[in-house]
Amino acid sequence: MTRDDPLLNARALVLSDLSAQGLVDPHTVSVVEDCVAGRRWWLSQWQQGASFVDGLVAQDVQDALFDEARRWPLCVDCADPVEHSLSIEPELGPDPRWVCSESGAQIAALGGLRPL
Ligand SMILES: [Zn+2]
Repeated sequence: MTRDDPLLNARALVLSDLSAQGLVDPHTVSVVEDCVAGRRWWLSQWQQGASFVDGLVAQDVQDALFDEARRWPLCVDCADPVEHSLSIEPELGPDPRWVCSESGAQIAALGGLRPL
């Protein structure tokens, strides 16, 4: 992974976590590309935001999939039978992590989800 282009790094992390849940296909890859492209403009306006783009791209992809009624990533660590997802914390900050939206438990760093 490279830090030369923070957006390529963000793309790789998000694709890794999509892959862990079996969601990489041409459509989801194009969703990721769209979100990366959107944040490229954002980053050009605010370069100090470079360390935030990983978490932001992840949230953009999550929102885009949610709009298609696809929940990603699913929490698989809880005994709770009601399907629920993970959220990025911090929402705007460096070193984003996936946290269970129900229990608040920290599950993995972005890019570090275990395969299902
Ligand atoms: Zn959970």
